[in-house]
Amino acid sequence: MTASATHLDHLARHVRGPVHLPGTEGYADARSGFQRALTHRPAVVAEALDAADVGAAVRFATVRGLAVAVQATGHGLVAPATGDAMLISTRRMDSVRVDPVARTAWLGAGVRWRRVLDATAAHGLAPLSGSSPGVGAVSYTLGGGLGPLARRYGYAADHVRRVELVTADGEVREVSAEQDPDLFWALRGGGGNFGVVTGLELGLVPVARLYGGGLLFDGAHAAEVLEAYRSWTATVPAELTSSVGMVPVPDAPGVPEPLRGRHLVHVRIAHLGGEAEGEELVASLRAVAPRLRDELGELPYSATPTIYNAASDPHAYVGDNAFVRGLDAAAVRSLVALAGPGAPVPCVVDLRHLGGALRRGGTGGAVGHRDAEFLVRVLSGLDEEVDAATARGAHARVLAALGPATLGRSLNFVYGTVADARTGYDPGDHDRLARLKAVHDRANVFRFNQNIAPATSA
Ligand SMILES: Cc1cc2nc3c(=O)[nH]c(=O)nc-3n(C[C@H](O)[C@H](O)[C@H](O)COP(=O)(O)OP(=O)(O)OC[C@H]3O[C@@H](n4cnc5c(N)ncnc54)[C@H](O)[C@@H]3O)c2cc1C
Repeated sequence: MTASATHLDHLARHVRGPVHLPGTEGYADARSGFQRALTHRPAVVAEALDAADVGAAVRFATVRGLAVAVQATGHGLVAPATGDAMLISTRRMDSVRVDPVARTAWLGAGVRWRRVLDATAAHGLAPLSGSSPGVGAVSYTLGGGLGPLARRYGYAADHVRRVELVTADGEVREVSAEQDPDLFWALRGGGGNFGVVTGLELGLVPVARLYGGGLLFDGAHAAEVLEAYRSWTATVPAELTSSVGMVPVPDAPGVPEPLRGRHLVHVRIAHLGGEAEGEELVASLRAVAPRLRDELGELPYSATPTIYNAASDPHAYVGDNAFVRGLDAAAVRSLVALAGPGAPVPCVVDLRHLGGALRRGGTGGAVGHRDAEFLVRVLSGLDEEVDAATARGAHARVLAALGPATLGRSLNFVYGTVADARTGYDPGDHDRLARLKAVHDRANVFRFNQNIAPATSA
């Protein structure tokens, strides 16, 4: 289809939110997001205001043979919509409604964690949010959702109560364990493969405060700190969720002087418990090397994004990851050698400790590789010195060093690249997802994502 003013008129009559064609005012802004390495170039962008708008936009698209892409904030863009495609932007659907008695929050499709954290904190409740307040809460949850309470409470996806979904036929459906257990299972881990989620109800946990923050060491101590961290994780309770990062800090204005241009090791702690207990748990890590900064202390849950201090400005980046069943000392040494200070391609490495409640499949969704002990992530910002191919090559070498302990990857944390979706799930689960994809989206209308190909035999 070549989108025309006539098409725009037709769409605008059915969708209350703004619609944009290439070259019209608003198109460039509505299609762009946090990830700047890739750009959506669809035939048309529809900015939905509600589920009815999404339904009308999907019907408009499918009648005309357009595939449909969805974007909330653009943090997780992997497959830009181009040519005969419609982009549905959910950024205006950013409502959050808390039910303090039921301990749930209804999240609009485009809401970011910052707004959810503020709304739930007022009731002494917490969502299973992640490291960055700017990330879209719904897409994060559809891909699993790994945050600072993960070892105590599991994946965010495990706490979804019901989902409002627009399927490829343009119908708005409510999906829950009672109404459609198979599709409900698939949505919680299957990403955006089954339709456009227009909102979901998320269970909240009674957490108002915790003990945590960051410890910063100079990269020269990377080998000792990572090895100490590796052995320390075997000793901590499920109430403690943590990670360690190796971070090359740019020599740029705005970065505080003692950290500027340095390679850092950043230990991040979130412990559900009081200060005295927290201090005791981290004492051995504090003693590993001189600390450049020590930010540990009690904090409100709504301040947990400060534990990570994730990048907040849009930029270009690529990244990959591996779930591993365990890490030995040799693997840690390889990580430091390949991606630590002096690495030929600057890499941010993030080693997240898993286990605890993450292992429980039970009533949880399709999130894969629950037996993993760690998630090893690697990513690089792109600029005139590091292009995507160079960064991907470096990442492949880092992850290859993890060897046979590798189980697969988290599709939520693959940045700027389409991954083989089979690597995101346990094999039986992937086949089940592919059969459900064939039932709900045989034509693969929703293909601009970590795509699960519809099973041909379903
Ligand atoms: C700085 C940063 C920090 C992060 N921290 C964490 C973390 O701590 N834990 C964690 O688990 N993940 C984390 N992530 C990963 C993040 O959860 C995923 O990238 C997620 O997909 C981003 O969602 P978004 O809405 O912000 O991005 P978008 O790019 O808008 O969405 C990503 C994809 O999700 C799909 N999608 C979006 N909205 C819908 C919808 N309403 N219905 C159906 N499909 C939809 C689309 O396929 C879309 O391309 C982080 C990412 C970044 C960049």
